Amino acid sequence: MNQSTYSTTPTDQAGWQALADQLTLEGRAYVDGAYQWASNNETFACISPVDGRELAQIASCDQADAELAVAAARKAFESGAWSHLAPTKRKAVLLRFADLIDAHGDELALLETLDMGKPIGHARAVDVPATVRAIRWTAEAIDKVYGELAATPHDQIGMISREPIGVVAAIVPWNFPMIMASWKIAPALAAGNSVILKPSEKSPLTAIRLAALAEEAGIPNGVFNVLPGYGHTVGKALALHMDVDCLVFTGSTNVAKQLMIYAGQSNMKRVWLEAGGKSPNIVFADAPDLKKAAAEAASAIAFNQGEVCTAGSRLLVEESIRTEFLGLIREALTTWRPGHPLDPATTCGAIVDQAQLDRIIEYIGIGKSEGATLVEGGKRVMEETGGLFVQPTVFDGVNNRMRIASEEIFGPVLSVIGFNTAEEAITIANDSIYGLAAAVWTSNINTAHKVAKALKAGSVWINHYDGGDMTAPFGGFKQSGNGRDKSLHAFDKYTEIKATWLVIE
Ligand code: NAD
Repeated sequence: MNQSTYSTTPTDQAGWQALADQLTLEGRAYVDGAYQWASNNETFACISPVDGRELAQIASCDQADAELAVAAARKAFESGAWSHLAPTKRKAVLLRFADLIDAHGDELALLETLDMGKPIGHARAVDVPATVRAIRWTAEAIDKVYGELAATPHDQIGMISREPIGVVAAIVPWNFPMIMASWKIAPALAAGNSVILKPSEKSPLTAIRLAALAEEAGIPNGVFNVLPGYGHTVGKALALHMDVDCLVFTGSTNVAKQLMIYAGQSNMKRVWLEAGGKSPNIVFADAPDLKKAAAEAASAIAFNQGEVCTAGSRLLVEESIRTEFLGLIREALTTWRPGHPLDPATTCGAIVDQAQLDRIIEYIGIGKSEGATLVEGGKRVMEETGGLFVQPTVFDGVNNRMRIASEEIFGPVLSVIGFNTAEEAITIANDSIYGLAAAVWTSNINTAHKVAKALKAGSVWINHYDGGDMTAPFGGFKQSGNGRDKSLHAFDKYTEIKATWLVIE
């Protein structure tokens, strides 16, 4: 089934289920313009966290497939079929690619929900449009970026140009499979590189489907390849490959560190990492609207089941309003109860897999044993559905040194920490190995700027949570990573700078 078989977006669970029942799922890798099984013929089961059912068998690629894909990508790059194409032409193809994703929005949203459990309403209203926007915005930008001329003596010319780097491997996670992929593949392709996308083994379906849409859009063979499989097999093979020029990654800090080692052990490929977070959300007593702050604090931990790198997992609240604010948060969380992911009214879906659910439940136990006070949630629910659901959970009385406050849980578990002064809030907020994002809520412009400047984070939000657009860069300080996705800054990852110096005779 493809998009042309539907006429309108379903409006209820039965409608989405009917579409799900018609889906034909592709599980093969896509290399050099063709779908194919892994060289070793091995597959793994793609299990839906919605109900525990097997969705498809997926090609389990390894070293041999990495070799094939890298060779195809290199050949395509050197041929110039894409890398030498005029930027306006690459732009036109990528705009077609974005249009095709848009046109297949229902199907792609459904794949995302079935594969990793997020609510269909969010997959359709957030994941699909954000992916389309990332590709469109980047495509639109590529014929508007210029080189530079150096300041030279009169008889010399110094040209500073950017060239595509070559073969790019993109390894991405499962929480926003398409969005994370688009933040990498859009600038990499726009700049003229060849790309090998390795989706998470927990969410391979949309990446595999995107390959067919890329082909239909006119991206030449070998320029865009998709290798599903495990991190320790095909991911490692790409990271250690001597002919991959650039490795871009979104995922955990532990794997990010390992990728730096692989680059050092191989060809010193460029390595760009978007890693974990434990973001502080700081609410002062003079926040302009406490109810709004509480609603956004609830969303910051419950949206996407808390499986968000920028989740506001540490809520720092000024002591004078702590009890009142806790009440507001609990009220706001009533709109974030777990529900069936295919029901468009659901706001909190299924946890991606059993291992992640176990991890969340384990951390809830750790919070209790560390002496924090469980004030909301804390339990697995809807077990009878065969799906993996957990209640949004709030711990009060948390100390920043507790494990629930210092370690990334990647689930809907909120740690509430009190503070008395701005200085104390800044110290607690920055006392983390991570530095991805932070928010501050206050009506005082001086407090807002003082705190925003002091926070060691790649994104800082004032009086809201999780703002941003393709127009602004995204990435982390400290062990949250290096480099930036989105905006024109993203091109820095996918280009080499060349200085060409000419002496005029
Ligand atoms: P993960 O690190 O376990 O896996 C990410 C990807 O790396 C997967 O495709 C996996 O197969 C691959 N991988 C694993 N081991 C590998 C190895 N040895 N060599 C090569 N590849 C390997 O992360 P995850 O569980 O998929 O995602 C959750 C993490 O992602 C969280 O830490 C979250 O904060 C982070 N994340 C960060 C951002 C950001 O922009 N900073 C965005 C989303 C998610």
